[in-house]
Parts: sequence; C-alpha cells; structure tokens
Amino acid sequence: MIDIHCHILPGVDDGSADMKESLNMARKAVEAGITHLFATPHHLNEKYVNVKSDIIDRAVRLNESLQQNNIPLTIHPGQEVRIHRDIFSSLEKEEILTLDDNVTYLLLELPSGRVPAYTQEVIYELLLKGITPIIVHPERNKELITNHKLLFELVQEGALTQITSGSIIGNFGKSIQSFSKKIIEHNLAHFIATDAHNIGSRGFTLQQAYEKITKVYGIERTFYFKENTELLLQGLSLIIEKPVPFKKKFMGIF
Ligand code: FE
Repeated sequence: MIDIHCHILPGVDDGSADMKESLNMARKAVEAGITHLFATPHHLNEKYVNVKSDIIDRAVRLNESLQQNNIPLTIHPGQEVRIHRDIFSSLEKEEILTLDDNVTYLLLELPSGRVPAYTQEVIYELLLKGITPIIVHPERNKELITNHKLLFELVQEGALTQITSGSIIGNFGKSIQSFSKKIIEHNLAHFIATDAHNIGSRGFTLQQAYEKITKVYGIERTFYFKENTELLLQGLSLIIEKPVPFKKKFMGIF
C-alpha cells in the first residue's frame, strides 16, 4: 500500500522526534502493509517551516538509514502546506514541495477550526498554475463539519481531498467518523492516508480503514482509493468521480 501523508521525518515537526523513532515508525508501516510512504512535514503552519530542499535532503538520509537497517520501505519527499496568503511567494521561492515530480498535486492543510475566506481564491490560483490541491482531513475541520456544502463547493471548484484513516475507524470520535462517511458517499474523497505522527495513537491504520470501507461500500470503493495512490505515485491522471451535492440519503452504516 501507498500512504501519501505522514510525519516520519525525524525532528522536523510534531511527528517523529529522532531517527530512532523514524525507524520504529518505518517498521510499523511495513508491518501494516505499506511499501511507499510520502513524508509530508508541516510547512507554514505557524511553528514549522520545512522548505523543499531541506525535506528532499532529509528524505534521502532517511532512505539511506532504511536501507542500512534492511527496512523495505521507500520514502518519497512531500509536504503538508498550511493554507496561507504567502503560499504563492513560497512557491516562487521554491520552498513548496508537491507530491510528484510533475508539480501537480499538493497537500493543503486548512486551520482545524475554520475555512479562511481566501480558500477558494487560493485553490483557484493553484489550479491556474496547474497545481491541484489535495485538502487533508476535511472531516476534522470544524467549519466544514457544520457546513458540508462548502466542502462540496471546494471539490466542485477542482480541489481533491484526503480522509485520514483514523477518522474512518473512529479514532477521532463519532461525529468525525460520521462526516468521513458522508464525504465518501458524496464522492468528495479521493484518497485515504494515515497522517501518522508516531507508533501510538496516531499510527498506520490504513489497512483497518480500507477494511471498514470495503465492509460498508464494497471492495470497489477500496480499489478506487488505492488506485489513486498508485496513479499519483506513477505521475498519472487520477480517477475523479463527479461530486454529489448534499441532498440524498445514503444507506451505508459504519
Ligand atoms: Fe499531517
């Protein structure tokens, strides 16, 4: 399996503290069936900077350590970019790192409590530059939880989303789990990823989430999410289903 969002690089953010912890996380990821991992440290989110060149260097070093320790996992450099007015000057300064060499997909983080007024404009401007933002864990955003329609509008505009595996299996509570389900049912989710920060409470629960999705929606839905991670890794076009507005009632029960 491929995980497109995690905090495994040592000592750069609120994820792994040091190389020892990174190697332990890597072992857990392998045990959980993950072969490729995008290391996506926080960028611009008040505390952490983590510019592109630095992340690439650190990912090389972590891959070397993985090889030395015979851990069969490949790290790909990435970044979780907090939405910010300065995002375009960061892009110009080449501080921003997309998930692929074609500069196509970018993990975009909203503040947890709200959706800033300039969000739609940032998405629009990114799309104009050929960059498709993947909004990470929209199911955990307090404003989107109460305003589903806004999420529909962001996806309709061209943004993609990534649901966190822990949300699907209930690790963040019932309301986040239930919103995750609604997002999937309305074709507003394009990826599932762990956003792993450690080997404890924020670990690699990708397989459990896929099992839950298979149980509720059938194996095709799991294949859809898995295939998008494969396509992303290979730099190919993703499968994007037509978003469904929030009106209909659905039957699936988590
Ligand atoms: Fe994250």
